[in-house]
Amino acid sequence: MDAVTPPQEPEAFWSDARASLAGLPDGRGLNMAHEAVDRHLSGPAADRVAFRFLPKKGEPLEMTYRELAAESNRFARLLERLQVGPGSTVFLLLGRVPHLYVAVLGALKARCVVCPLFSAFGPEPIRSRMAAGDARVLVTTPTFYRRKVAGLREALPGLDHVLLAGPPEETTDPGVHCLADLLAREDAHYRIPDTDPQDPALLHFTSGTTGVPKGALHVHEAVVAHHVTGRSALDLRPDDRFWCTADPGWVTGMSYGIVSPLTSGVTSIVDEREFDAEGWYRTLQDERVTVWYTAPTAIRMLMKAGRELPRRFDLSSLRFIASVGEPLNPEAVVWSQEVLGLPIHDNWWQTETGGIMIANIPGQEIRPGSMGRPLPGVEAAVGRRTNGEVEVIREPDEEGELLLRTGWPSLFRTYLGQEERYRGCFQGDWYLTGDLVRRDADGYFWFVGRADDVIKSAGHLIGPFEVESALLEHPAVAEAAVIGKPDPMVGEMVKAFVALHPGYTPDEDLRLQIVGHARKRLGSVAAPKELEILDDLPKTKSGKTLRRLLKARELGLPEGDVSTLESPS
Ligand code: AMP
Repeated sequence: MDAVTPPQEPEAFWSDARASLAGLPDGRGLNMAHEAVDRHLSGPAADRVAFRFLPKKGEPLEMTYRELAAESNRFARLLERLQVGPGSTVFLLLGRVPHLYVAVLGALKARCVVCPLFSAFGPEPIRSRMAAGDARVLVTTPTFYRRKVAGLREALPGLDHVLLAGPPEETTDPGVHCLADLLAREDAHYRIPDTDPQDPALLHFTSGTTGVPKGALHVHEAVVAHHVTGRSALDLRPDDRFWCTADPGWVTGMSYGIVSPLTSGVTSIVDEREFDAEGWYRTLQDERVTVWYTAPTAIRMLMKAGRELPRRFDLSSLRFIASVGEPLNPEAVVWSQEVLGLPIHDNWWQTETGGIMIANIPGQEIRPGSMGRPLPGVEAAVGRRTNGEVEVIREPDEEGELLLRTGWPSLFRTYLGQEERYRGCFQGDWYLTGDLVRRDADGYFWFVGRADDVIKSAGHLIGPFEVESALLEHPAVAEAAVIGKPDPMVGEMVKAFVALHPGYTPDEDLRLQIVGHARKRLGSVAAPKELEILDDLPKTKSGKTLRRLLKARELGLPEGDVSTLESPS
């Protein structure tokens, strides 16, 4: 019989994992950007391509680790020149262009906090996040600035500097500079200051059921988890050509689109173009992608494009495929095996965990439809909340909330300005994920659903409250409620119900006006795809709108307990 190595205790595991990274010279701490870039300058990866950018227009552009180190040094120096000190927040509102990557790494070197925003956001999500994150600096394009940010300057008095990636347009707005001009004046050498592993590094906004978006704050030592999970869950090796299709505006695009592959010294492909089935197969082929990390909605869209299309491409470089962000239907795993010759490895994590926690890992049996098993260093359980306590369910196949034992380095450290909400996520040693799951007898976890009303559309988490607030800004709207309606392609689509103020006629014209208003305020990600005007919305006796009931009615499901309903309608 083979000797079996017992699984390592999480504490020892993370301590070894930390030791596998370099740390700043002379024991001056641990800095994410140093581990991602500068550490490679004395090794074989120094002149390897770190990013190969495929722009929307024009020729591909490559940046080696050495070049990335120099450019990010310039950005760090620029922040110092602008007197943007450690702990200040640098926001990014950009497509997948080189300046974004340079700014992320430069800001981390200068010990600023980096907060990426998805570029399809409209002005309202941008304003609320920049206000909550106390934005000092914004890196954006001239067009995004004019269309989405210029009108918000009064609401963002702390925003001192706007650095424009691209030819600047005429503006008299204060603090607006051309980024390329400023960088050209900076020296390419920079000494990263001492960095405490617990210093804040990354801020990612995520959505809850109620209230404003939550800014989950991560620290520099999260890089330890980014590094080891890139190896254990994505099988990254130094000679890989890796393509993470997630936008850096979301946590996957940051942790695994930037930090993790860099720490392993791999070459990442960054495709700025939007999804297009043929274009994606072409990228996989022409870029000789070996490891591909993508999302279920994209896979379903490829499946819809048919089995003939991929046959026209040579995909033989592909070695490993993984997916995250929403449930991956078992058929997709089977399709992938049949059509691409490889299965898809589903994995699970969320903004708060900062890195992959549960995965179908290389070399282990994949159970199609399952998210896999906890990674080394991660202890997961199924639990039930009762009277403020959490009870762990030991028997297999029981449904309950997914719990994770605290102690891994990429766990978030707070929700910015919402300490109580943050504390509410923990019970003793357990972090409560808000996801419902079951665990089978072999330790595989199966996703059941969310414990709250948050909507997952095309992998993006959307808070109903944020959408409802934007709808309520329209003068005709008296009440609004938003639900996730199941959709075969994007998982769930945003559906809104509104009731009108007296004096407004509920006709098609007004309906379209309200939809248009929401789209303009929120952008295409969160705006409702469907909107229905009702006479009034069902509420509890205490006046709380019952999204659950609207959803049940929409789906033709049993309405459940309606005893608390104000006036059953
Ligand atoms: P986010 O914080 O935006 O990354 O969203 C995290 C949420 O996405 C999780 O809490 C889950 O609800 C969902 N999610 C992530 N990965 C998976 C997966 N593999 N299967 C099902 N749901 C997932």
